[in-house]
Amino acid sequence: MSQQVGSRVAMPAQDPLVRNKNFNEVALGYTEAMALEEASRCLICPKPQCVKGCPVEVDIPGFIAKIKEKDFAAAAKSLKGKNSLPAICGRVCPQESQCESKCVRGIKTQPVAIGRLERFVADWDMARGMEMPETTAAKGKKVAIVGAGPAGLTCAGDLAKMGYEVKIFESLHVAGGVLMYGIPEFRLPKAVVQKEIDYIKALGVDIETNVVCGKTLLVDEILEEYDAVFIGTGAGLPFFMDIPGENLSGVFSANEFLTRSNLMKAYSFPEALTPTRVGKRVAVIGGGNVAMDAARTALRLGAEESWIVYRRSAEEMPARAEEVEHAREEGVIFKLLHSPIEFKGDENMNLNSMVLQKFELGEPDASGRRKPVPIPGALEEAAVDTVVIAIGQGPNNLVTGTTPGLILTKKGGIQADEATGETSRKGVYAGGDIVTGAATVILAMGAGKSAAKAIDEYLSAK
Ligand code: FAD
Ligand code: SF4
Repeated sequence: MSQQVGSRVAMPAQDPLVRNKNFNEVALGYTEAMALEEASRCLICPKPQCVKGCPVEVDIPGFIAKIKEKDFAAAAKSLKGKNSLPAICGRVCPQESQCESKCVRGIKTQPVAIGRLERFVADWDMARGMEMPETTAAKGKKVAIVGAGPAGLTCAGDLAKMGYEVKIFESLHVAGGVLMYGIPEFRLPKAVVQKEIDYIKALGVDIETNVVCGKTLLVDEILEEYDAVFIGTGAGLPFFMDIPGENLSGVFSANEFLTRSNLMKAYSFPEALTPTRVGKRVAVIGGGNVAMDAARTALRLGAEESWIVYRRSAEEMPARAEEVEHAREEGVIFKLLHSPIEFKGDENMNLNSMVLQKFELGEPDASGRRKPVPIPGALEEAAVDTVVIAIGQGPNNLVTGTTPGLILTKKGGIQADEATGETSRKGVYAGGDIVTGAATVILAMGAGKSAAKAIDEYLSAK
């Protein structure tokens, strides 16, 4: 293995010019030999800084020590003691800004590749058919969860382990939230998500899909039957730019575009009969992780050119550096310091071009990033077949608008205690993106975990 002294073991990956034409996973995972070599870099610190960077406090040196001993079953047990979805977190958590950013190895060389080791152990565990944890005796109390994303699934799994009867109500036809409908197959295979959902179900959690809370079932109705409820409905409502032409055929929100590819299986056309015809040039507006996912998906759906159109420079781009790098390697074109001010279409309302305004960077704004300032008269028109708007998303009001007594945040989310998920309504807890706004999988899981603990304390005292 050619590796610089002190640097982490590289992750094998598909060749960029091959993978940009298929939906198979990009990163291929460590072999056992690679995992052992990387684990040997861990100092098993007695006061591990890495754990302080993990929102669910995984015993990182604990599970890595078990890898070193080649006791992968014990490593999996240790990992899953704190994290019910390790194969997912090992793939999509921003470890570089969490556990790995705190690892002492990173002071002089590169931090231990904690995420890659987590993925190795979780995949090993899945391949041998996942061992179930011990559960507590049934408590005779019922908890309902609204939304089967990472927040809801984690809360449900933890409560089931504590002996509660748990049921999740999910509006879509599949569980998983953004893990299923948002994050593309090439970063997070659906089969991996499904196996982790099956694990939660095997703990005794019942999941009923196609139930839109706030429409088909109200939270107040749920509370007549259940002792407590956790709301984890996420932030799935896309923001638009409010510019002329956004209603043209060919302009999508990232949410719709990725859902078509993920849940309606556009990627497996012609086997699945739901193609997304992207045409020759696709422009994705935005510079975050969602934009990178959409631009890379567009290439895989057959676009000859996939552009990221972002109004600031590369330095201000909020996407993870690794995602930007992967997009560049695959041939995504970055049209920086530009943003559309109008989309134009033909007489049948089909999109055919966009007018772009050029920007320069000014002083930093409230976010600390340099503000984009339009250059007067610097406009250009570019032909485009598909536009995907990826400028953010917020919570929908289906549950918040139909549950009296809930205090909301300024952005329309639910106001809940950060440590417990308690809301202004007794017995009603909330966590994940519906509370924080669009954030990360691990923060949503952390919120689900804290809420499960708080619900247990509340119901034990009742
Ligand atoms: P969600 O995952 O949104 O789940 C909410 C669930 O509630 C959904 O299943 C929804 O259908 C359901 N629901 C909504 N309303 C109702 C209702 N009225 N009744 C019943 N059910 C309802 N984070 C990372 O850490 N790493 C990444 O790489 C990453 N990539 C991302 C890529 C994309 C394209 C997107 C959109 C997000 C990404 N994120 C990533 C963010 C991350 O996925 C979210 O922060 C996380 O999924 C939030 O979890 P949640 O459980 O709060 O909500
Ligand atoms: Fe290992 Fe780094 Fe954590 Fe120390 S800080 S235990 S070296 S992963």
